[in-house]
Amino acid sequence: MDLHDSAEDAAFRAEARRWLEANLSGEFAHARGLGRAGLQHEGRDLRMAWERHLGAHGWTCVGWPRAWGGRGAPMSQQVIWNEEYVRADAPARVNVMGEGLLGPTVIAYGTDDQKRRFLEPIRTGAELWCQGYSEPGAGSDLANVQTRAVLDGGEWVVRGQKVWTSYAQWSDWCFVVCRTDPAAPRHKGLSYLLVPMDQPGVEIRPIRQITGTSEFNEVFFDGARTSADLVVGEVNDGWRVALATLAFERGVGLLGDIVHFRKELDVVLELARKNGLGADPLVRQRLADMWIRLSILRLNTLRSLTGVDGPVAPPQASIAKLFWATWHRDLGELAMDVLGADAMVAGALPYELCDLQRIFLFSRADTIYGGSNEIQRNIIGERVLGLPPEPKAPADKGRTNA
Ligand SMILES: Cc1cc2nc3c(=O)[nH]c(=O)nc-3n(C[C@H](O)[C@H](O)[C@H](O)COP(=O)(O)OP(=O)(O)OC[C@H]3O[C@@H](n4cnc5c(N)ncnc54)[C@H](O)[C@@H]3O)c2cc1C
Repeated sequence: MDLHDSAEDAAFRAEARRWLEANLSGEFAHARGLGRAGLQHEGRDLRMAWERHLGAHGWTCVGWPRAWGGRGAPMSQQVIWNEEYVRADAPARVNVMGEGLLGPTVIAYGTDDQKRRFLEPIRTGAELWCQGYSEPGAGSDLANVQTRAVLDGGEWVVRGQKVWTSYAQWSDWCFVVCRTDPAAPRHKGLSYLLVPMDQPGVEIRPIRQITGTSEFNEVFFDGARTSADLVVGEVNDGWRVALATLAFERGVGLLGDIVHFRKELDVVLELARKNGLGADPLVRQRLADMWIRLSILRLNTLRSLTGVDGPVAPPQASIAKLFWATWHRDLGELAMDVLGADAMVAGALPYELCDLQRIFLFSRADTIYGGSNEIQRNIIGERVLGLPPEPKAPADKGRTNA
């Protein structure tokens, strides 16, 4: 693994850095730093305008094939773009589900009509997407999805409830895993539907999180309709497509997150230096430990991306997910200890949190979404260490890391 940029990558990095510096100015100067963890609601309109600006200048979907409006950038340059994006303090992206999950899934499994219909509006930032997988009884166990879809003439009619649906309140479309054959074994009767959100049969109820904000929602489908041809993959083959989408989660984006984590650790370090806690041998040890683990995460992520030109393979992805989520949760706890008694009070009424308090509270979610720590340990145990598989009911060969 060579940690230096090739000449071509160095030129790409310089171009990305120049563009971000020049364009995070004027009206977009105020967008810097908006929408971080626990503040996802911040500056919605400005961030959407920024999203469209990125699209107009070819800086969305950089890893997509050129045929579908991307730059066809190799893995190394996708990583560089993510790193430079965070380094420039550009605002959190709004259409992560469209660009990172649904788009690659449609490219891999969609019909030509679906590609023509959906990819360009994602690329330009015109249409936002959310992910309708989890339900009250189907999170880690995605095969237990109960939301039903039945064909009525030329349309699917959808009934059921999704939960924890991030950005549903902003989204134009949702990719929904539905049960279309209740008689088939659990993971065989599912289909992957594309459902418009702005219609009478869809109700979105925001869930207030411990950070005081609402990133995610309950979504109720009560007779919601979508066209019969808006199934990705075959009808009743949604399990395979749903798992493929999950494989697109993370990967290149993690290198950008690591730059962000480093910035957060630097804030904690600076605070420890200022308030004298940095002299405490136990705090020093924990700070050094966080720094070392972050370096390991970066090197291991670079290693796992070396020579890879698609989604990172599941065991590697599970190791990375378990490692970074636990690291971030530990950083939140350390930040509270370094903050001392101030950690226990909000900065202002009614509930104004400082950045470190927000990191502490939001990072609890890191060990849950995208596959909880326990699920990642199961995957590592079974697929990396070759331990005996977790016992399953005979009809249930599929369990996911949703
Ligand atoms: C911030 C955030 C954003 C999210 N956004 C979305 C979204 O946009 N769309 C979407 O569809 N979902 C989303 N989710 C949902 C997320 O995918 C689920 O929360 C996750 O899959 C866990 O499912 P669950 O919450 O139902 O918990 P459960 O699956 O009920 O798990 C409860 C506990 O049991 C443990 N557990 C479960 N099964 C096993 C097992 N086999 N072995 C050992 N332990 C086990 C889990 O680790 C967990 O600790 C989001 C979640 C969060 C926190």
